[in-house]
Amino acid sequence: MIDEKVKKYSEQLKKLGIEHKIAEHPTLKTSLEVLGYLHLTLTDGLSTMIMKAEDEFVAIIRRDDCRLDFDKIKKAVGVKTIRMAKPDEFKKTTGMPLGAARVVNPGMRTFLDKKLFENDVLTGGSGSFECSFRYKTKDLKKISKSFIADLIEGLEGGKKRVFSGTRATGRLHLGNYLGAVKGYIALQNNPDYECIYMAVDVHTITTPYDQKTLSEATRNIIMDYLACGLDPKKSIITAQSLVPEHTDLAFLFSSMISVARMQHLPTFKEKIQQHPDNVTMALLNYPVLMAADILIYKAGLVPVGIDQEPHLEVAREIARKMNETFGMDFPEPKRFATKGEYVPSLLGEGKMSKSVEGSYINLTDDLETIKKKLAATPTDSGKGKAVPTSGGVANLLTFVELFQGQEKRVEYEKKYAGEGLRYKDLKESLAESIYKDLEPIREKRQELEVKPEYVAQVIKDGAERARKLAQKTIDEVKEKMGLKGGI
Ligand code: ADP
Repeated sequence: MIDEKVKKYSEQLKKLGIEHKIAEHPTLKTSLEVLGYLHLTLTDGLSTMIMKAEDEFVAIIRRDDCRLDFDKIKKAVGVKTIRMAKPDEFKKTTGMPLGAARVVNPGMRTFLDKKLFENDVLTGGSGSFECSFRYKTKDLKKISKSFIADLIEGLEGGKKRVFSGTRATGRLHLGNYLGAVKGYIALQNNPDYECIYMAVDVHTITTPYDQKTLSEATRNIIMDYLACGLDPKKSIITAQSLVPEHTDLAFLFSSMISVARMQHLPTFKEKIQQHPDNVTMALLNYPVLMAADILIYKAGLVPVGIDQEPHLEVAREIARKMNETFGMDFPEPKRFATKGEYVPSLLGEGKMSKSVEGSYINLTDDLETIKKKLAATPTDSGKGKAVPTSGGVANLLTFVELFQGQEKRVEYEKKYAGEGLRYKDLKESLAESIYKDLEPIREKRQELEVKPEYVAQVIKDGAERARKLAQKTIDEVKEKMGLKGGI
């Protein structure tokens, strides 16, 4: 049985030309209950909030998956202070029981968040707990004294967020630079993105490490970042351990994914082979922490090497599950790939990695060191029918392509198939090209060596900015997961 008051409201809507349907249900007091009963999600619902804006009451309408931004509301309403109406004020101004607000509140200015119009139909309150209205969203514009504005939390001007990090296990090498940091810089210099880059020192403790040098290693990563061209005026640059919300969220996320899924990851299997005596919970949780690093900023784009793809898949799975189970609005993060997405090891097998001695060239290595490291790359007789596709020679040719260009690579390949390659010459000339390419980074790094206070300030400022963003997500997740501490 539809209540008389509800029928009257429906008539009122018809007069205004607002198309709608009535959905009956048992007594349900929250939008989450109503949407669940109707097999809908938070993105299908709307709620009306009555607020006291200085000396006037206004109605604010937003989609149920969105959080209101009070600064934006104040701007749209044109007031300096605004607050939610108290229960008695709500009842007096609307004549409805608390929690059953309608979209039409005669006499009140009504502000509609623009995201509402992404949906054709939205379900909202009717003034009764026994039924809800399905509104044709477009028609909400017909509410008298209504205004459309951006009222919800989100990035200014549709900016997208970017997150990435590097473990503090040593100095940055060519793989980190070409596979990741070059992507960081490209995105930082694009005004469509808001970027957060960290030395992920908490990830460092997932494999054996030295607590005496960890802080220095963390600072070194950040100095390398700055030397490569990361700019604290454009990006948030800091250390992961200074933003404890990452580990807080990681624990909550760990309830969303099974132990078996983590144990089957190729990255986990690789690491337990490297460190058979260190198969810890932290190591197993590495991808969950990485998902928290990214999703705590609701970042949709992650500049990382191709080795991180299995971890990104985990982050996407967690995001999907959190959205489905708790009505979160996490994006499913995607990898931002660069040309050097897989830089091979100098040892002829696997990828270049800080944690594999002899596999890498650091960005600040001098010419002699680069020559010495390249000299150790395994080669063959320098002559053969087909150029090898894996191993030391193949890797050297990849470096030639990355630092001396495609043409040089083809020239060497022809030599290999013909008169033969002289590896000594190839390695010397390659070492010089790499050294020259890294010159601006070395110079900037030297400047930073004598400015420790500046580096510390960058890290501190970055942490403060990052925490503000991270806390919002943690609060939202805890609330939606029911972790309200009983108050
Ligand atoms: P590492 O294995 O050297 O410790 P990290 O795990 O700290 O490196 O990774 C930091 C970033 O550098 C990640 O985005 C990772 O994908 C990228 N990266 C690491 N090694 C390589 C590589 N050999 N080629 C391309 N990108 C790499």
